[in-house]
Amino acid sequence: DNAQPKKPSWIRVKAPVGKGYQETARIMRENKLVTVCEEAGCPNAGECWSQGHATMMIMGDICTRGCSFCNIATGKPQALDLFEPGRVADAVAKLGLNHVVITSVDRDDLEDGGAEHFAMTIRAIRKRAPDTTIEILTPDFLKCDPSVLETVVAAKPDVFNHNLETVPGLYPSVRPGARYFHSLRLLQRVKELDPTMFTKSGIMVGLGEDRQSVLQVMDDMRAADVDFLTIGQYLQPTPKHHAVDRFVHPDEFAAYEKAAYGKGFLMVSATPLTRSSYHAGDDFTRLRAA
Ligand code: SF4
Ligand code: SF4
Repeated sequence: DNAQPKKPSWIRVKAPVGKGYQETARIMRENKLVTVCEEAGCPNAGECWSQGHATMMIMGDICTRGCSFCNIATGKPQALDLFEPGRVADAVAKLGLNHVVITSVDRDDLEDGGAEHFAMTIRAIRKRAPDTTIEILTPDFLKCDPSVLETVVAAKPDVFNHNLETVPGLYPSVRPGARYFHSLRLLQRVKELDPTMFTKSGIMVGLGEDRQSVLQVMDDMRAADVDFLTIGQYLQPTPKHHAVDRFVHPDEFAAYEKAAYGKGFLMVSATPLTRSSYHAGDDFTRLRAA
């Protein structure tokens, strides 16, 4: 049954217009960069791009995994482009970003999962745009030697983000190929390797989870010393993707946010249109000023 609940009024997507949007699109194209904002059809693209926020995706646009919520193509990825870190850094400098989010497809085909490429990209941005804070949103490096994480952490991103995406009970249907406790442990290891690094994770809701499981995920994250949390409504990218179970009411999001602060997260964003990278820069600036 493909019948989907009707989109409620609070899921409103603003049209991607404005000078800032065009300018960001032009610089991304010139630098041959892939953005998650476009690939994932993110509902906030108009707003974020007009403000010069963007999430860039490195290591190509073909993923070795096939998560059922994700609109990125699955297949055999391209070879790594060693000039890409330089082009990312160039775009960050040209866009004058305060905060950049760098993410990637999953590269189970590479021995280090792309860890060194992440590290090179962080170093390149630091050199070209030293004032820009850097957030990385990484794959789980499930098939790699645990030491690859050290390579990424040693490059000193400001925020290390790895999304749990959903509650453990839904992993087989939502995130096949991933392991809940592996991802949780990855977050914990980042903190052990560098206690000064902020860690962040997020989940989508509306996939069929219940409230108790969401609260349990929060507890698991806090036990792994995760600092920041994002919770947003899952939207089905195409009818072939995982069905929307329901649209979570904004009041329930507000209750999740309150519960999360009560559990000790330093920063929480829980709204229907929250995405992993939505307003990440503003939040981080606010935290540093505090
Ligand atoms: Fe891009 Fe993230 Fe903004 Fe969406 S929320 S448009 S992915 S920066
Ligand atoms: Fe999409 Fe990431 Fe899953 Fe790949 S690993 S299919 S990019 S969510």
